[in-house]
Amino acid sequence: MSVRLNYVAGAFVDSTGRLEDVNPSDTREVVDTFAVADKALTDQAVEAAASAFPAWSRTSPETRADILDTVGNEILARKAELGALLSREEGKILAEGIGEVVRAGRLFKFFAGEALRLSGEKGASVRPGVDVEITREPEGVVGLITPWNFPIAIPAWKIAPALAYGNTVVFKPAEIVPACGWAIADMLARAGIPEGVFNLVVGPGSVVGQALVESSKVRAVSFTGSVATGRRIGAACFESGKKVQLEMGGKNPLVVLDDADLPTAVEVAVNGAYFSTGQRCTASSRLLVQSGIHDRFVAAVTERLKALKVGHALAPDTQMGPVVSAEQLKQDMDYMRIGSEEGAHLAFGGEVLEREAPGHYLAPALFTEATNAMRISREEIFGPVACVIRVADYEEALAIANDTPFGLSAGICTTSLKHATHFKRNAAAGMVMVNLATAGVDYHVPFGGRKGSSYGPREQGSYAREFYTTVKTAYTLA
Ligand code: ADP
Repeated sequence: MSVRLNYVAGAFVDSTGRLEDVNPSDTREVVDTFAVADKALTDQAVEAAASAFPAWSRTSPETRADILDTVGNEILARKAELGALLSREEGKILAEGIGEVVRAGRLFKFFAGEALRLSGEKGASVRPGVDVEITREPEGVVGLITPWNFPIAIPAWKIAPALAYGNTVVFKPAEIVPACGWAIADMLARAGIPEGVFNLVVGPGSVVGQALVESSKVRAVSFTGSVATGRRIGAACFESGKKVQLEMGGKNPLVVLDDADLPTAVEVAVNGAYFSTGQRCTASSRLLVQSGIHDRFVAAVTERLKALKVGHALAPDTQMGPVVSAEQLKQDMDYMRIGSEEGAHLAFGGEVLEREAPGHYLAPALFTEATNAMRISREEIFGPVACVIRVADYEEALAIANDTPFGLSAGICTTSLKHATHFKRNAAAGMVMVNLATAGVDYHVPFGGRKGSSYGPREQGSYAREFYTTVKTAYTLA
């Protein structure tokens, strides 16, 4: 049986441990088997990245652009195959898998261009005869730690800017979905990335991730994942003087006002809350619905959910794939029990479903009569579970939308320009959506949130340079 190996110092290297990447649509299927890196191999990867940094940071931006562009083109050319691989390891439906792969390809191509666009400033000094230059330089070795819910897009939006701006990389994908991350390593290797510039280490967060965070040679860590892990990594990076960027959870509100177009609001809510099995940090998990439209909205969403086909991610008629793992399914079920105990009404779904293949299937769940104080309204569930909170008017909706420890994305469905404009200005979130789902963003503009959702500079778009470069101010006596 072939085993996918780690990529360290320009070579695919074996290790003793093994890890199976299991298909959540059919748990009998092992998508691939991976060699598991340990602390020693992770340290070797960091050493290799540190040795490669001086030369890579001084390469022509054209060299970096060409490698990233080559990878971007290959990802786009292989979208059907990589999309299927993604859907097999993560469980999102094939259309979403292919969509995510295309996004990853576009990200590589965007940052290929960014390598060439990085520029500085030159200004007059307040002192006579002195020139001032402000330039950006790469940070050094960056550690990239990614979650399982976007197995190719999140790695792409960290790896591509890190390399574009001249950093060297040690990348640790989520251990339950390493196949797409491995595919990126394979493509970078064939595109001619110099030895040590990019390294892949597959393994548990507590070993491989922690080794990266603790290494004195890693200058910066970019992490996407849970709040608890993110906070721990943030504290450890602060202790060891590393730059850190954290993208954590969300509890994103979608406000539906009485004047909303009902079919639009239902589509936006169902997409935002349940597509990708609700496993998106931008998912609309709190639906704040004004009393005049409340009953019609709940009835229409329920009808839509009844018709939603839950099944194998690769089956052509499936609209919602399985939950990613048994552990995540248990978390979803625990929260549904908590919601019922707290007094919310389970209006639809929430039951484990049997399908032909053994998988982690869950019916999309809708709670009504929820309050914003309940745990199901405050804590991120990360599954196909949304709760409806009834609100009297726009002012109450806005207050509840902002009453959360998170602040990633916030949406509103309304035909009122006044309320849409006010919401865009006053929603305490990094991203605001009007008549659009809270999830689903472009790849060339900043992504990130406020409060407990994010820490550090934004990701994606030109804003990514804030994290992946450091500023130098140089003075010259002319
Ligand atoms: P989830 O599994 O819900 O995505 P986690 O925060 O547990 O969220 O995992 C996100 C990423 O962080 C994964 O790649 C995981 O292996 C990694 N990770 C988990 N624990 C640690 C840790 N202590 N140090 C570094 N990385 C970790």
